[in-house]
Amino acid sequence: MKKGRYASVVRHHPWIFSGAIEKVIGNPGPGETVSVRSEDGAISGVGAYSPFSQIRVRFWAFKDREIDNSFFYERLKAAIKSRFDLAIPSTTNAYRLVNAESDGLPGLVIDRYSNFLVCQFLSQGVEYWRDGIIAQLISLVPNQGIFERSDGDVRQKEGLEIKTGLIIGEKPPNLIEIMEEGCKFLVDIKSGHKTGFYLDQRENRILLSRFSEGARILNCFSYTGGFAVWAIKGGAREVINIDSSRIALDLAEENARINNLDQGRMQNIHGDAFKILREFTNEREKFDIVVLDPPKFAMSKAGLPVAARGYKDINLSAFKLLRPGGLLFTFSCSGLMQHDLFQKIVFDAAIDAETEAQIITRLTQAKDHPTALNFPEGTYLKGLMCRISG
Ligand code: SAH
Repeated sequence: MKKGRYASVVRHHPWIFSGAIEKVIGNPGPGETVSVRSEDGAISGVGAYSPFSQIRVRFWAFKDREIDNSFFYERLKAAIKSRFDLAIPSTTNAYRLVNAESDGLPGLVIDRYSNFLVCQFLSQGVEYWRDGIIAQLISLVPNQGIFERSDGDVRQKEGLEIKTGLIIGEKPPNLIEIMEEGCKFLVDIKSGHKTGFYLDQRENRILLSRFSEGARILNCFSYTGGFAVWAIKGGAREVINIDSSRIALDLAEENARINNLDQGRMQNIHGDAFKILREFTNEREKFDIVVLDPPKFAMSKAGLPVAARGYKDINLSAFKLLRPGGLLFTFSCSGLMQHDLFQKIVFDAAIDAETEAQIITRLTQAKDHPTALNFPEGTYLKGLMCRISG
């Protein structure tokens, strides 16, 4: 390591950027284990080497230790065991079992959907140890089948090709029915977003349901209706979903049906939420609750100003659409957007809409998506529940 770049290692940050490396001794291949040494030669830990990525090394451990299949057994077991301590009710059978860096396994995501497991191998390190990881996973978690969704954009940055398909076991059905406490959802793990469902929003959906009694709700960027189903379950009078994906909206309808909800309470609008929000404000529509859960707007630091304008635009419309006393559930899943900046953008939107509002609570990803303290980047989902005065 370069002398001036060692502080992050002392603070156990799991990444080493290429520019922080003074010298590579030997010729490590993709994913191979390397020892990380400070300028005086002392070994500070071991990690996986990634020759094509800006993130050149991802730490496995901050001490000198052997990395072998038993290491993965230990880490997987610890991550999976910790899920039992998170008070996830037995009526919920879909959640994240392994959350990458924050569970000490950089680049590895494992989600449970009922009896199926979905894996993402997103770094050279976990790709290198893939067979061992799968073998340990099988020994730890009984399952019907393991499916791979290594199609995140990070995989390309690592110099890895996209890989999806059945790893072992039974071929999953086209739609898997999962339980989230009192609600059921159909999930397409083969080609749905992420690993199939926005598991990270589970607790926020359940929170929304508690405020939904009798409410008229606008659910923007609805995907397959997660927030909508919970809202109707909570007694919402009417929920309007907006999404640009017809497939997602069709599945939202199915989700309402399998929960025996009054389907007349759910309406789907296929189109661009930015445009429809503006049309609704022009028509002076009013709602008791607006949910804004857009996709990632900021892909790079350079993209932040454009992303900020996007968030401002939709939040401004949302404030205009809310009745006095109405609630806004607004989110950003762009990791690069800091919470403070997001809050400021929402505030600017309220000013422009000539509304006053309070933050009732700050929201984030569900507890099965923890953030290791040494990896603050792990908190990517932030949200605000605001109440308009009146
Ligand atoms: N709230 C959802 C997750 C939303 S993900 C849940 O809890 O499950 C973001 C969604 O926004 C995706 O379904 C995507 O299809 C949709 N989307 C992306 N751009 C859009 C746009 N301009 N207008 C409407 N929907 C859009």
